[in-house]
Amino acid sequence: MIELPNPLSHAYLITGGSGDSRAALARRLTAAYLCQGELPPGGSPPCGKCPPCRKAAAGTHPDVVCAAPAPDRREIAVDQIRALRSDAYIRPNEGRRKVYVIDPADAMNPAAQNALLKVLEDGPAYAAFLLLADQPGMLLDTVRSRCELLALPPEETPPSPELVERAASLAGLLLGGDELACAQALVELELERPKQDQLTALLGETENQVSRRLAGCPKRGAQVLQALKVCRENGVYRPSAGHTLGWLLTQLF
Ligand SMILES: [Zn+2]
Repeated sequence: MIELPNPLSHAYLITGGSGDSRAALARRLTAAYLCQGELPPGGSPPCGKCPPCRKAAAGTHPDVVCAAPAPDRREIAVDQIRALRSDAYIRPNEGRRKVYVIDPADAMNPAAQNALLKVLEDGPAYAAFLLLADQPGMLLDTVRSRCELLALPPEETPPSPELVERAASLAGLLLGGDELACAQALVELELERPKQDQLTALLGETENQVSRRLAGCPKRGAQVLQALKVCRENGVYRPSAGHTLGWLLTQLF
């Protein structure tokens, strides 16, 4: 769990992770804005126990306003943001702050984003804004620059069975030491013009497979492992996939 900033800024752009982990972070931040509980010395909100914290966690706090696309729409429309903006100038119902959660913020069309700008920049001091985005690049620079960034680490997804199978086959070839077979496999791989993340994932999984088989051929295994490690550390696509795969071959034969 990432540590919440203290003191809190008035606007955050939450990116990375998954939709669920971004929403969970937004709920914690919302509770932190609204918490009125007693904190231990040096502690920071949320306490997690006071009524505002509990209402924030349950999604029933009247000073939390969420904006999302209407059920039959993909975009958050400008009218929705205009309504949010007007609401921001009405004082909180029962808390010290009002929290606006826009999820997904990258669903705001440019008009909606422009409508948000003014209130992001000089809205009332009690208003806080949480913008959740899978693709922050869809947001205008002007919107992004008015928010502090909270980037969650990427979530690890297990490799697909196809990737594992291919990596196992490549690991077998590299360990087997048949130069021609290896060269063929690497040339085939290059001809597929793999994307950077695909090649990184494949060579990373190959590295895992080789390290699992290390006991069978320690000397050759260590050599293969070292070469794959250098590929990974240098970024496998620099300067190109072909260059990396060619380099790999020269290291092993
Ligand atoms: Zn609390």
